[in-house]
Amino acid sequence: MKPDSSFQDIATRLAHVHERMTVAAHRAARHPADIMLVAVSKTHSPDHVRAAVAAGTYTFGENRVQEAAPKIAALHDLPRRPRWHMIGHLQRNKARLAVELFDLIQSVDSLRLAETLNQHAHELGRRVPILLQINVSGEASKEGFVLPGGIANHAAYAQLLSEIEQIAALPQLEVRGLMTIPPLTDDPEESRPYFRLLRELRADLARRLPQTRWNDLSMGMSDDFEVAISEEATIIRVGRAIFGER
Ligand SMILES: *Cc1c(COP(=O)(O)O)cnc(C)c1O
Repeated sequence: MKPDSSFQDIATRLAHVHERMTVAAHRAARHPADIMLVAVSKTHSPDHVRAAVAAGTYTFGENRVQEAAPKIAALHDLPRRPRWHMIGHLQRNKARLAVELFDLIQSVDSLRLAETLNQHAHELGRRVPILLQINVSGEASKEGFVLPGGIANHAAYAQLLSEIEQIAALPQLEVRGLMTIPPLTDDPEESRPYFRLLRELRADLARRLPQTRWNDLSMGMSDDFEVAISEEATIIRVGRAIFGER
């Protein structure tokens, strides 16, 4: 495929994603403007990002710091700087660079990582917005804070709450909500219980820790974002439906 046609495809696919978002939002009696689209540009070139910017989207997700750094640098000449979200597991030795590069770190998955980010943010004189990644399914292969049995499992929940309280108290971090990745499935409806669990967890955290902003629920990808929107997602992370198969 010639580059020109694939870049045209990005504009077409992006328009289709916006259409799907609008339909899903209206079906859930929500405003489309209350849902942020993060275009997941991992594995794709800076020129793909340029094509998406030309088509009117400005927020991008990357899952590896070492891939994101040169990509972000290559795009410094854009008239309007895109926003970059970190959505992949972050090693603590990459935390400093992540603080420098990203506008939101969605994948904070341990107290130790949060403390490391807080330290770097302090040294860099920055305040870093974060989401806490929750492993809602408990799958061993997934990153994130685990919550086996949901908030009804009091012992496990008490442990999680104590860690979240410590993170919320870190002065250089600004907790904005939760993120999750449900198990892979062919049927988007199978993601619903996991999205619902994240929504319930957020509601409970908002009651218990009202001084923290629990605004954001980052959930839903190319195949299941409509379901996520119906379960109150405020951020969806969409790769393949915009950029094509990786
Ligand atoms: C790759 C990725 C996405 C996007 O997935 P698609 O299926 O391409 O839409 C979303 N979230 C995370 C954390 C990812 O790593």
